[in-house]
Amino acid sequence: MTLVFRQLQDPTSSTYTYLLADPATREAILIDPVFEQASRDTALLRELDLRLICTIDTHVHADHVTAAWQLKETHGSRIAIAAAAGAAGADVGLKSKDRVAFGSRALEARATPGHTDGCMSFVLDDRSMVFTGDALLIRGAGRTDFQQGSARTLYQSVHRELFSLPDECLVYPAHDYRGLTASSIGEERSHNPRLGGERSEDDFEGTMRNLGLAHPKQIEQAVPANLVCGRIPAAMAPVIFDWAPLQRTYAGIDEVEPDWVATHGGEVLVIDVREPDEYVGPLGHIAGAELLPLREVARALGAIPRDKPIVTVCRSGGRSAQAFVLLKRAGVERVANLTGGMLRWHENGLPTQRD
Ligand code: FE
Repeated sequence: MTLVFRQLQDPTSSTYTYLLADPATREAILIDPVFEQASRDTALLRELDLRLICTIDTHVHADHVTAAWQLKETHGSRIAIAAAAGAAGADVGLKSKDRVAFGSRALEARATPGHTDGCMSFVLDDRSMVFTGDALLIRGAGRTDFQQGSARTLYQSVHRELFSLPDECLVYPAHDYRGLTASSIGEERSHNPRLGGERSEDDFEGTMRNLGLAHPKQIEQAVPANLVCGRIPAAMAPVIFDWAPLQRTYAGIDEVEPDWVATHGGEVLVIDVREPDEYVGPLGHIAGAELLPLREVARALGAIPRDKPIVTVCRSGGRSAQAFVLLKRAGVERVANLTGGMLRWHENGLPTQRD
């Protein structure tokens, strides 16, 4: 049985988000999506031609806000989280042994409380992977010093529900702060310094009581937001400059369609980053487009007017994507790349000039 699988990272909170999909039906799920990364996840789903049917949160996170609600608004996906997590607005309140299906594949939910009361791990149907949230980390364990944490409960959860899985089952946690990406049950059962080897429940309890960790930075904002599945007030949401129907690619480029530019020409500054001979060549240029070859963009940044949104254009959309990156880096907020460049412009039968 094949599977589409991607491990994604939010660098700010060191959170891993997992995309799983059935390649036949194109049905996808996301485990632990992060609010600030929703547009990235949406772009990846679109580029891989997948349909998001469900998001799963392994628990009520204290270090980031879930993107569950935002993704539901965009994709119509259902929100799943443990019933014991007590989050309002979820579509599915999971209990242990519940299945979350996507196409012909499924995850089995297993209650693994201890880090919080509502923590769940998710085992893939063929037991080749387990998504452990903050219960079992790579050579570590989720902290147990806030949010109903209990070291004894966590020890029992990991030993009963996770260490009983096959040795070769890969472990994918919700976080890693050293950049480690995966482990296996056999490895953790032997080498986890807190929970593995000969460590007893008392050993674990003693370790966890003396970690001396700092208070999580985002907990005051994150926990209340996650208790409503990420449905946060508009005032707290990141500012999106939606001056045009922009589409963000997985590469991080905001793009705008040629037809929109053709009908809103007067409202934007079109910057053509090709060479002068291309500007007057067979493909021609968009009426009113300013010629500024890509090699000169970096030097000209200070002189580019910012009163109108900017659309960058080139032959195919590649060089102009780099111009977009340079302009963004220079602090230009309203800028987009013309999807497909002059080639697409021509395909769409839009007018050009050659003089
Ligand atoms: Fe957590």
